[in-house]
Formats: sequence, structure tokens, C-alpha cells
Amino acid sequence: MIEVLSIASEIVPLVKTGGLADVVGALPAALAPFGVRVTTLVPGYPAVIAALADPEVLWSHADYFGGPARLLKGRAAALDLLVLDAGHLYGRPGNPYIGPDGRDWPDNARRFAALSFMAYELGAGLVPTYRPEILHAHDWQTGLVPAYARFNAPTGVKTVLTVHNIAFQGVFGWDVFNALRLDYRAAGEGALEYWGNLSFLKAGLQTADAVTTVSPTYAHEIRTAEYGMGLEGLLRARADSLFGILNGIDTRVWDPGHDPALAVPYGVHALGDRAQNRAALEERFGLEPGEGPLFSVVSRLTWQKGLDLLVPHIDMIVENGGRLVVLGSGDAALEQAFRAAAARHPGKVGVMIGYDEPLSHLVQGGADVMLVPSRFEPCGLTQLYALRYGSIPLVARVGGLADTVIDANAAALDAGAATGIVFSPVTEEALGEALRRGFALYQQPKVWRKMQRRGLKSDVSWDKSARHYADLYATLTGREHHADPND
Ligand code: ADP
Repeated sequence: MIEVLSIASEIVPLVKTGGLADVVGALPAALAPFGVRVTTLVPGYPAVIAALADPEVLWSHADYFGGPARLLKGRAAALDLLVLDAGHLYGRPGNPYIGPDGRDWPDNARRFAALSFMAYELGAGLVPTYRPEILHAHDWQTGLVPAYARFNAPTGVKTVLTVHNIAFQGVFGWDVFNALRLDYRAAGEGALEYWGNLSFLKAGLQTADAVTTVSPTYAHEIRTAEYGMGLEGLLRARADSLFGILNGIDTRVWDPGHDPALAVPYGVHALGDRAQNRAALEERFGLEPGEGPLFSVVSRLTWQKGLDLLVPHIDMIVENGGRLVVLGSGDAALEQAFRAAAARHPGKVGVMIGYDEPLSHLVQGGADVMLVPSRFEPCGLTQLYALRYGSIPLVARVGGLADTVIDANAAALDAGAATGIVFSPVTEEALGEALRRGFALYQQPKVWRKMQRRGLKSDVSWDKSARHYADLYATLTGREHHADPND
């Protein structure tokens, strides 16, 4: 049994702002069959504390990063959790990173350093009953975990840092340094230093025993100036310890055969039943029924996602008999542009600004096409959900989108391999061309149905990727993991 402590700032189903939470929530169950026991350390946000049944107090202190704190051990939603209960840091409702004024909490450096330091302390043997062999950190919020393990007193624990999105780097001024409890050598040897500031992510990338990211293509892209966001040089230097491991999805939560959010469950042999979900979706978004394809978006509305490139095509979609539903929130200008499109095309374009998990399932189960025109996409989950739900993904050829969708070009259609529509470069023109290809394919119901079936049958589970993580842990600890029980 390999004992892994996964450390994350969000986890499904307790706190989620994006794909990171899905991955962190799914990994423990995916790794269990390999003899890897994953416990997850998360901040004690109100929603997390409320979900813990009968927690055990493993540790407490009157002054931990500026206030009283306890480490709780418990289970919630079938997850083994360690929860850092520190009201002065996490006892705030709402978004985990942003205050009610829409700005980052001013003490985010301290909040996530405190989380990371706790992981390090556990690696160093803080509590007698639990000692991990691997500390697996996720994204900038936990980027200091490997830095503590490297520069503070040695622990023997191995560290892995997974980058879910290199755009978020945890950059702060040096004034926060003293609050971090990080050995001064971390500053001296340049691990933290980042263009005159300090970066949690950079510190982690520099010091982790292994760095992973969430798709093979993104692992290559982030070594280039176009996608590396300033960290490409460091990542090139660390190429031997950088691995791309594709995300899977939780196929129990995302199962069209047993999904309480759908009007009607269905499977690969009853794809006709999707029509009833489409009708339910149309009703939710106030759309009139129609013959043409129903396009969909479920996304953060930010520059990364490339949805500004979609806006100029909405009139064309409607003119060609298509319709569009958008579920998302983010940039005010983009929200406004979609709202305006809905006002221009009542009954044809439906927009819901907000975050609605069950509705996102109904969109996957009822729409015909899932649009993901991202400018960069480390892995992307919505196209994987689409494949599993028989919605055709129309995606940009970047990152994990390129790794998971097979374009319906003539050769792939002939070979019976196509699962979606992939376009490049990521421009308004190329997206327009891809949308027109979408319309043309939709006119060929047999071809369309075959693509849907292939998507439904494609393996989007964690099985393969969990093995890669288990192999990595085994290499780092010098110990074997159990063989895959499916072998
Ligand atoms: P990212 O993590 O960059 O936001 P991913 O595609 O990896 O992108 O993951 C996004 C996750 O968030 C998916 O599970 C998606 O279904 C969900 N999601 C995004 N926006 C919404 C929304 N407005 N309502 C419900 N779920 C959403």
C-alpha cells in the first residue's frame, strides 16, 4: 500500500470552481485498485466542515498562521479527508479564492501557505497515526508543499506537483515572505523568485520531485513561449521530470444511464431517448423546438475559453436553423454579449449566467454539440462529458482537447474513428468553418449517430491514467504498487 496525501484547495462534491475539483475528487477511488491509498487535505471552508460526519481531532494549536487551528480527520462523500479547520483563514462563505467585492482575498498567500505547511508537517511526522510517503500537490495554492519539503527540515517524503492550469501562478510581493514559514534558502536559491515577485507555482515546479500536468499535449505546450506563460524555460530544464497524464472523468457521477439530472436516462443503444432530454433542455432555456442542431456551452466565460470567438457566429448559427444554449459566468463583457444574443434571438438562443451543476448534466445529455473553442486547455473535462453523453464535441486543437477528440475529417470518418470536430488555428474564421462542418455533418444522421456511439464507447474513465499516477508513485518511493486488477 502506498500512502499518498493529496493537497488541494477544492474538491468535488464539496467545493468546486473548475476541473481541478473534479480531478481531486475522483483520484482517490481511481487509485484504490492499484494499492494506493489517497487521503486529501483541504481547507476547512464552511461547506467542508458542515459535510464532515463525526470528525476526529488529530492536532490543534492556538496560533497557527495567525489564529487557532485544528486538524480534523473524517469522511465526507466517500472521501477520506484531513481538514485544516482554521476559521481565521477559511471560515468565509462563497468562492474559495475571491471575496464578496470580486477581488482575491488579500490574505491568500497566508491562507494557502498554511494549507501547504500542514501537508509538510504531516510528511515530517506531526501526528503519530498518519504519515504519508508522497505529498501530491495541485496547482499554485499548494505549490509551496514541495518547497517546504526541500528547504525546511528534511522529511524523506517525496513530492509531486500537478499543474492543472499554468495561467494561475500564485504571484505575491516579497512582503508576504516572512509569513510563509519557508526556510530563507528558498529565497536565496531562487526557487520562489519570479520576475521580482515570488510565485508559489514556480517554487513548486522548481522543487517537486516530479511535475505532472493533465494531458500529454499540454506537457509539451507549456515548454514553449506561446503556452508556458513565462515558466517555459524552467519547464524545459525540468523536462525529464515532467509528465503529461490525461485526466479521466468520474464515470459514476457522469453516467447517462443513471443520471438524476436527466429527464430520461439512456445508453448507447437508446440514443433516440436523448430527444426527451433535448426537449427538457429546450424548456429550461425557453427555446422553441427545432430541426437543426442544438449547440451548447458550459464554461467559465474567460479569455482562455475562446468564447468571444463564438459571439460573432451566433447570428449565422440561428440563420442556418441552429440554436444555442450557454451556461456560464465570468467576464462581464462576455456575459453581456451572450445576453444580448439571447435578446436578439428569443426562442433560439438561451443563456443562463451562473453556475448550476445539475443543469450542466442536462446540457450534456440534451444538446447535440458541445463547443470548446479554448485558446489553451490543459485537459478540459466538458468535451469528455460530451463524449460520454453522446453530444458531439467541437473543439480547438490545443492541449487535452487535441488528445481526446478525433476530428471528423474524411480519413477518420472512413476509418470509423471520428468522435468530434477539431479546428485550428484558434481564430474566428476557423471556428466559423468548424461550425459549418458541424451543420453539414448533422445533415447526415447516420454519420452523426455513428460518431455519437463511438464517443459513448470511448474510454474516458480514470483507468489508464490512474495507472500512470500509480507508476509514478511507485518509481518515487522505490516500491511496487499492486497490479491493475483488470489485467
Ligand atoms: P476549467 O477547469 O478550466 O474551468 P474544465 O473543462 O477542466 O475547465 O472543467 C470545468 C468544469 O466546471 C466542468 O466540470 C464543467 O462542467 C464545470 N462548469 C463550468 N462552468 C459551469 C457552470 N456555469 N455550471 C456548471 N458547471 C460548470
